[in-house]
Amino acid sequence: MKNIFVFALSIVLCSITGYAKEPVKVLIVTGQSNHNWEASSVILQKYLNESGLFVADMAVSPKKSEDMSKFQPDFSAYKAVILDYNGDSWPAATNSAFLQYVEKGGGVVVYHAADNAFSRWKEYNEIIGLGGWEGRNEKDGPYVYFRDGKEVRDDTPGRGGSHGKQHEYVVTVRDKKHPITKGLPASWTHARDELYDRLRGPARNMTILATAFSDESTGGTGRDEPALMVVSWGKGRIFHTILGHVGNEAEHPAVECPDFIVTFLRGVEWAATGKVTQKVPDDFPGK
Ligand code: ZN
Repeated sequence: MKNIFVFALSIVLCSITGYAKEPVKVLIVTGQSNHNWEASSVILQKYLNESGLFVADMAVSPKKSEDMSKFQPDFSAYKAVILDYNGDSWPAATNSAFLQYVEKGGGVVVYHAADNAFSRWKEYNEIIGLGGWEGRNEKDGPYVYFRDGKEVRDDTPGRGGSHGKQHEYVVTVRDKKHPITKGLPASWTHARDELYDRLRGPARNMTILATAFSDESTGGTGRDEPALMVVSWGKGRIFHTILGHVGNEAEHPAVECPDFIVTFLRGVEWAATGKVTQKVPDDFPGK
């Protein structure tokens, strides 16, 4: 009897305080990249688990050129799949399981170089919205960027994807109402990172939440390039961040700065649940 009372009381308390929520199960897919995925995947997993909002599992693919046929993560067991992968093609069964997962409403987070992956996979390009490198060009869709405060879609022929030298740069919010960006400063300075530019892709059902000015003096385009985006595909919600370069150096400022952590965790929550319950912390730059 006493146990039942305690159980009932805890339900009441939990429903008042909101702590009844089980952490959301999410999956990091990694194992191959032109980046230091051994470091980045562990850093992302730590942020997710320490937030208390998520429990993050890791699906690590076989190494480059190894047999990929048994790499079949159970996407459907998760609310969001975080892509930290840029490498060999997955088996056909894994590709279709992934598409089915997104189609049915699964969340996806496209992290940094994951938008380089799978350039010849049509649906993948639709899901990421914009991509770069790996032979992408005008056949893959327009360049998309901001000019004079407005989104531009530019069909000029040319390569998709490049970046200048790493530097600190200003990120500017373009959609203040979206759950991911709501309450963030209008702009802030992001720690030293790559600034992807000249991304191109189908960009259908895509909203640019924030841009970053790609200064020609750092080897950039002189344009406000997309930095944070959301895409819908089937019933799935996709959050795409170009931020977060992790190389072989000992320091990883691009993922260790508060703005990366905050936008990443907000993006994962939105992709997984459609909502963002996290407050913007006081150490957010520019707040
Ligand atoms: Zn990079």
